[in-house]
Amino acid sequence: MEDGIEAKRRVRQEGYRLNVVLIPLLHGAWSLILCAYVFIYDLLNPGPFSFARYFTFVLTLAAYCLGSWFIPRLVYKKARELKLDFSQFFLIADLLFWLVVIYRTGADKSLLFFLSLVRVSDQRDMSFKRVLVFAHLTLIAYALLVLYLFYIEVRLVDLRLELLKMAYIYGANLYLAFTSRPAEVLRQRSADAAREARQLNSQLIRKSQQLEEAKARAEAASQAKSEFLANMSHEIRTPMNAILGMTDLALQSDATPEQKRYLTTVKSSADTLLQIIDDVLDFSKIEAGKLDLHPNPFSMRDTLSDTLEMLAPRASEKGLELACQVSYLVPDTLVGDSNRLRQILMNLVGNAIKFTDQGEVFVMVDVESQPSAVALRPDLPQGEDEMSLHFVVTDTGIGIASNKQGMIFESFVQADGSTTRKYGGTGLGLAICSQLVELMGGSIWVESQLDRGSSFHFTARFSKADVTSDQKPAEQIFKKAARSLRVLLAEDNEINQQLAVEFLRIRGHDVRIAQNGVEALAAIATEAFDVVLMDVQMPEMDGIQATIAIRERERITGHHIPIVAMTGYAMKNDRQRCLDAGMDAYISKPIRQQEMFEVTENCAARYSDRKIDLAPLWLDNE
Ligand code: ADP
Repeated sequence: MEDGIEAKRRVRQEGYRLNVVLIPLLHGAWSLILCAYVFIYDLLNPGPFSFARYFTFVLTLAAYCLGSWFIPRLVYKKARELKLDFSQFFLIADLLFWLVVIYRTGADKSLLFFLSLVRVSDQRDMSFKRVLVFAHLTLIAYALLVLYLFYIEVRLVDLRLELLKMAYIYGANLYLAFTSRPAEVLRQRSADAAREARQLNSQLIRKSQQLEEAKARAEAASQAKSEFLANMSHEIRTPMNAILGMTDLALQSDATPEQKRYLTTVKSSADTLLQIIDDVLDFSKIEAGKLDLHPNPFSMRDTLSDTLEMLAPRASEKGLELACQVSYLVPDTLVGDSNRLRQILMNLVGNAIKFTDQGEVFVMVDVESQPSAVALRPDLPQGEDEMSLHFVVTDTGIGIASNKQGMIFESFVQADGSTTRKYGGTGLGLAICSQLVELMGGSIWVESQLDRGSSFHFTARFSKADVTSDQKPAEQIFKKAARSLRVLLAEDNEINQQLAVEFLRIRGHDVRIAQNGVEALAAIATEAFDVVLMDVQMPEMDGIQATIAIRERERITGHHIPIVAMTGYAMKNDRQRCLDAGMDAYISKPIRQQEMFEVTENCAARYSDRKIDLAPLWLDNE
């Protein structure tokens, strides 16, 4: 809009300059040339030079020039209001003035008969029509001059010569008219282009204003929506807690098995619903910028093992190995929001279990060697009291197509609609994780191959806690055991083998590996061991069958080798199965170093005198 006004102002200014400055200047220029021409012509003529005549001529020209400069200045505004075109007015005035000049410089004898042509060619915006009109006017004017000489002054005019002059004037004018045509077309085109550009520009300005307004409206609506969702989710949580609590109470009452089945379904559905509501609540809090972290000192290893313990039954149900490894460089006590860290891990490990049908899920934590978080968030404070950790959750599941890997961190996006129908979910989990990770000063990314599995990486920054105890931390791990044991590890999964071997060797024990129950039996028959760590689920012969066979043999030998079950099965009846088979102790996967050392070493110590019938040592995980 402003552009249009500006363009009009520019056109007006140009019009004023043309009429008030350029045309008078042109008049001045050709008047000077004319004066010089007439002076030279008169000098070269054989007749006497008349100063009076020449002076009158110069004065006339000067008066005309001054008039053409002064009059437009005086009346320009008025004339514009009356839509009077000064350049056209002077075109006619000039023509008449030329006639006077031609007449005064010898009429039919004057050599200035072609002057009108000069005026046509010096027009600034010559148009075909204008020049054509002017050509005819010039012709008529000159013809009138000749007729005046012939009839009024009764001079002896050479009519043939005059006709020739008129033909020359007319022809030259016509030529100028036609040559002005391409220039006119070009001028028209550039004027059109400029007008179009102006229109486009003003449209653009209008559109961007509309966009700005729409953006502001959308932002306000999104803010209102987020606040509404946050309030709603909060309101829904309260009755949901009552439903869950009451269902728990009802489950503990004397309900019939059928009623308990119904109540269990109610409880698991309510749990799922609560999880979804929690996700929506978090998501809307993040969107509304209301999610804050609450840092507290916490144990990294406990947080990790608590999380994995919660998910272990799900992994066991699907027959998946669940393992974790925390680098010794990671201090145990850190300051950060452990609940939010747990939430991220629950989500990533939960997804890994959900999208994996066979194989394993492996969690690894290390100190970040390349502090990408620092590079990504230079705005966050850095210091010696802080450290960035690198978490990796790896699975051997369905994987994610490379073209979907970038999108899955956006809200409501799921890599594949059909998989989602099979696996369920809302598509919010990773969006929340990525926002939480960002709040923790880190970043999240995925490496994945379809049908091979995925590795979700994230970094997060924590403050180091003051370690007040004499002994620093999970140093306790590296303290050698009082007595070095010969341990047989019956485990088929490579990652779990590596982990257990590493833990046990650091502790000072000697480890031998058996890939399955058959190999374990063979090893026990040929070598002496202080304790057996027996995975329950193994190919060829599982841990239960192997234990039954070992105990069968021991009936003859009278020996009792302590066997510690290692299993992802975390239900009560799983323990009973292990106990019934003759195992002595039990640790649940994922393996935690401290628990593994305690149970294995205590168990070995109890049976070191090879006495039998000692009460089994159970580690209560409930
Ligand atoms: P949800 O799991 O509730 O659908 P998420 O945001 O947690 O939502 O995950 C988004 C999508 O990313 C999932 O629907 C799935 O398609 C894909 N995805 C996430 N984790 C994995 C994984 N470990 N393996 C394969 N696909 C995954």
